[in-house]
Parts: sequence; structure tokens; C-alpha cells
Amino acid sequence: MEKTKVAFYWCASCGGCEEAVVDLAEDILTVVEKVDIVFWPVALDFKREDVENLKDGEILATFINGAVRLSEQEEMVKLLRKKSKLIIAFGACAHTGGVPGLANSQTKKKIFDYYYYSGPIVNNPERNFPNPEFTKKQGFELPEFYEDVRALDQVIDVDYYIPGCAPPPNIVKNAVLTLLSGNLPPKGKVLASDKALCEECDLNKTKPAEGIKIKEIKRYYEPEKVDSEKCLLLQGLPCLGPVTRGGCNALCIKGNMPCTGCFGPVDGVKDFGAAALSFMASIIDSNDENEIKNIIEKGIPDPMGLFYMYSLPKSLLFKKIIREE
Ligand code: SF4
Repeated sequence: MEKTKVAFYWCASCGGCEEAVVDLAEDILTVVEKVDIVFWPVALDFKREDVENLKDGEILATFINGAVRLSEQEEMVKLLRKKSKLIIAFGACAHTGGVPGLANSQTKKKIFDYYYYSGPIVNNPERNFPNPEFTKKQGFELPEFYEDVRALDQVIDVDYYIPGCAPPPNIVKNAVLTLLSGNLPPKGKVLASDKALCEECDLNKTKPAEGIKIKEIKRYYEPEKVDSEKCLLLQGLPCLGPVTRGGCNALCIKGNMPCTGCFGPVDGVKDFGAAALSFMASIIDSNDENEIKNIIEKGIPDPMGLFYMYSLPKSLLFKKIIREE
């Protein structure tokens, strides 16, 4: 009997989501037994032509990780959309733009200037930059590097989302088995809890009934000084658990690391960073403008990096516009 066809593809990301599939360990056998993987460039030697030769809609589900930055990525995700019944944005970068999306705080020109000209280990006095037109003349194609980074659903229609950087094995397994069962959830669903992370965190019970108020926001580079029996926010660590979707079993918190928000917002929240910022502002214990400014400047030297670490392309801002001097 012919098995259900699935595919995997990798756009702008670190590759951790590909690892997440392997992290299924022996559970991967349960999945592999039910499916035929017809495209997975990181692990199997299929070519683009193999996808082109499939009938439209022949793949049941394609799991795409990574944001879209290059023309090649855009072409591939559009091709996979055509060939797949279901497209799943797999991991934070495909879901909300992810860490690569932070590049929307720079222009393409600034990025190219740094990496190909002024960076400390670059020697390029003639200022040669990647040029798709030039390489075409040499007989091969270099993809175009777009001005902006986009989340997957800003490029193609997406059916479901699996959140996380990277998605933990329990979330991946449940999502894959749900999709294979044919008992599909409503289109557009994020396949994880719809409650905030605090709800499933063991340290939630250590919060005072009257709510949290803090006088200091700490940087979290000294995890050995963290009290693992007490809510991290209470200790002044900028934990984004109150505004982040749960489902990860508070893995980072168990390692004394505050939640950085990789699961994105719960349903109905349009701008994760704005929600996180508003929440942090509400727990600062001061009415004095200068004191508040000091607390923030000392504890949050990079607000964009803290509040929009995974979600700048999907935020209301989308991109920071930089006026060139
Ligand atoms: Fe846990 Fe962080 Fe929520 Fe505190 S703020 S309960 S540490 S997730």
C-alpha cells in the first residue's frame, strides 16, 4: 500500500529544527513507519526536479523551517505549497521570523557592508559584493538576498504552526501524529498549548498573590546564582513566561534560564514584543521616571533583542526603518 508522502525543507535558520526531527529518537520509527519522505535536503539526496515531478497536492504535509530571506527560498516554498495539501511552519523562524528576523532591524546595505567590506576579518578593498547578475553570466545562479526577512505565512498560505526554537520532541511527535490521523484541527492553529508558559511552570506557585514588583532587572549570564526554587521574575530575571505560549514543559526554566519567548504569543495577541514590553513595564516597582529609566537601561541594554528576539517580522513594526546619513 502506498504510504503518505511528507517533505521537509530548510530556509533561513540555524538548522536546529532539523535536529529536532532527529531528537524524536526511537519515536521517529513510529513516524517513518507511517510515511514516505519524498524531500529532505539536509538528510536525503532528492533534487528540486523530484519535487517538480510530483503531482500538485501529492505530498500530504510539508514541514518548512526557517524564515524567508532569499529568492531561492521563496521559489522553493511556493513550489512546495503547490505540491502539498498541508504546509506546516515548523519552528520559531518559520512561525514568527525567529532570530534571523532580527535582521529587519538593519538594511540589506548595512549587512552587506559589514560582512563583505568593513567586518574585522574581511579584506575586500575593491568592495566586491555578491551579484546575481554577474554569476548568471558565469553559468550558475546566486539567489537574490532580499531587503527583508519574512515569516513563512508572509510568503505562502500556511495551514498549521509548530512553535519553538527548536520545537521540543513531545510537540513534534504530537503534531505529526495529529496530522497523520486525519483528524485535523482548525486551519491556522498553533499546535501547542494555548495557555501562557507560567501556567505549566512549577515555579508559578512561588509568586506572591499580590503580584510581582521588581526594583532591578538582571542580565542572565550567571545561571549558577539563580535560585531554582523561586520564580525567575521574582529574582529580577526577565522571564517572558507570562506572555509566551506554553507547551515546552518549561525546559529553559528547569535549566535556570528565563523564557525568551520562542513559542511566540498565545492566540489573539498580535504583537508579542509589545505584549512583553507592556508586561515588563507593569512590574517595575517605581513611579520615579529617572529610577525607571535606570532600571531599564541597566537591565535591558537591547530591548529589540529581548522583546522581539523571535518575532520582529510578524510584529506591527515588521522592520525598523533606518535613514542613511
Ligand atoms: Fe516560571 Fe518564568 Fe512564569 Fe516565573 S515567570 S512562573 S519562572 S515561566
